[in-house]
Amino acid sequence: MNYDVAIIGGGIVGCAILNKLTRKNLKVVLIEKGNDVAVGASKANSSIIHAGFDCKPNTLKAKFNVRGNELTFKLAKELSVPIKQCGALVVGNDLNMVNELFNRGKANGVKGLHILNREQLLTKVPKLNENITCGLFAETSGITSAYLLTIALAEEAVINGAEVKFNTKIKKCVKNDFGYNLIADNLNINAKYVINSAGASYNEVAKILGTEQHEIEFRRGEYFLLDSNIEPLTNLTIFPLPSKFSKGVLITPTVHGQTIVGPTSYESDNTTITTVDGLNEIKEKAVNIIKDIPFNKNIRNFSGVRTICGDDFIVEKSTKKQNIINLAGICSPGLTAAPAIAEYVAENLLGFNNADKKMKKRVPYTCLHDLNEAERNKLIKRNPDYGKIICKCECVSLGEIKEALNSPLKPNSVDAIKRRVRAGMGRCQGGFCLTKVIKTISENLNISEDEVVKENKGSNFYVSNINPKK
Ligand SMILES: Cc1cc2nc3c(=O)[nH]c(=O)nc-3n(C[C@H](O)[C@H](O)[C@H](O)COP(=O)(O)OP(=O)(O)OC[C@H]3O[C@@H](n4cnc5c(N)ncnc54)[C@H](O)[C@@H]3O)c2cc1C
Repeated sequence: MNYDVAIIGGGIVGCAILNKLTRKNLKVVLIEKGNDVAVGASKANSSIIHAGFDCKPNTLKAKFNVRGNELTFKLAKELSVPIKQCGALVVGNDLNMVNELFNRGKANGVKGLHILNREQLLTKVPKLNENITCGLFAETSGITSAYLLTIALAEEAVINGAEVKFNTKIKKCVKNDFGYNLIADNLNINAKYVINSAGASYNEVAKILGTEQHEIEFRRGEYFLLDSNIEPLTNLTIFPLPSKFSKGVLITPTVHGQTIVGPTSYESDNTTITTVDGLNEIKEKAVNIIKDIPFNKNIRNFSGVRTICGDDFIVEKSTKKQNIINLAGICSPGLTAAPAIAEYVAENLLGFNNADKKMKKRVPYTCLHDLNEAERNKLIKRNPDYGKIICKCECVSLGEIKEALNSPLKPNSVDAIKRRVRAGMGRCQGGFCLTKVIKTISENLNISEDEVVKENKGSNFYVSNINPKK
């Protein structure tokens, strides 16, 4: 099979590029080693659409953050992905640093920045710690769901002709008359252009492509996820003043009504564990922003890993191999920047300047939780499966799970269903619904329950048929 472009890696960056190149009317394939999109850094982060005041001026981070902020709000609305321009505060007691952030933001072209004193801050967050004297308010900052945005970008691309290959790892890349021949255990294709968007595995893929290696460092960020039934701590994102390594431990609402507190920033390997030290550090730091955080209402700890290459993103044409694009070190604000990176790769690096085609719209997943009683009744009358509640915490019905299983990317794991319809995302974290979700996947995909996986290949829940000698 011949393609114009092959993209390796299905995180937010790879999926934003897939979507953009499909809009340019190209034949595009996305190759992902995992069982779904958004299984790397794009599934575990703060999901903040940063305004762009924090990035060093004249960097790719600054340029793509500010443009990406504008594009992400537009795209999320088009794709029916939840997004909220709630604004963000950076708070502390060092007015010089607040001024510096304000000036940096202005230099980056960020609009809607305001320096606030304590009284003004209290009108936005009444529970602020008494040590806080000043802050910066950024109107254009917002929150979304990073994984839903990634899924929606890929789904819309697929509806409009793109292809996505899961569980596929390229082993060989050979130059040929068409462009490149890419070979995996389960794939043999040709592509004129290849894009390395493999996140943490950038160097592994670069080695196979024969392109530039870059020095990569990992920094893990751990989080608390607080239950949706707590009294709201804040309706906007609150950061402390940033450090050299990160934007600091923040407190933010999620688009699904929960609260997250974190992340840490520890030098690490690429494993998503949480640690006692990390979680204690979050507790210690977060109370400098808001004193009484109900950490006893924590329903989950999780972590994500940043892939860092020096001080900036690397978004470049390979000089070693023609028609290959290297994307390395796409750490924060990579979620915000992704649509701007995609635009730049498509138009500036690959030269596809033609107007975007009109895309067939994706149908958003039904969300019973968000419907009023009359709407629910109508839906249940049409299809009784929407009246059978599987996940009680998040009010997710059998109908919604079946709908997700038939969605354009054909998800087939418990976590893929969780990301799409929120079964298992609530207070009990799947304690009550997990076995029902496994059963539903098994019945609808016509596979045995033993074959149902949590996330990637080998993460089966039941082991009764697995031969230990194999
Ligand atoms: C703790 C934390 C908090 C953050 N908070 C924010 C935030 O609030 N706002 C913001 O803008 N940014 C934030 N970021 C940054 C953002 O999450 C990342 O920049 C973004 O997710 C990177 O996307 P990506 O597509 O480059 O990488 P990934 O999402 O990691 O995707 C890479 C993909 O490549 C696949 N892959 C790897 N190797 C191969 C291979 N050999 N073959 C095929 N596929 C392969 C992986 O499975 C993965 O799916 C945060 C990051 C972290 C870790």
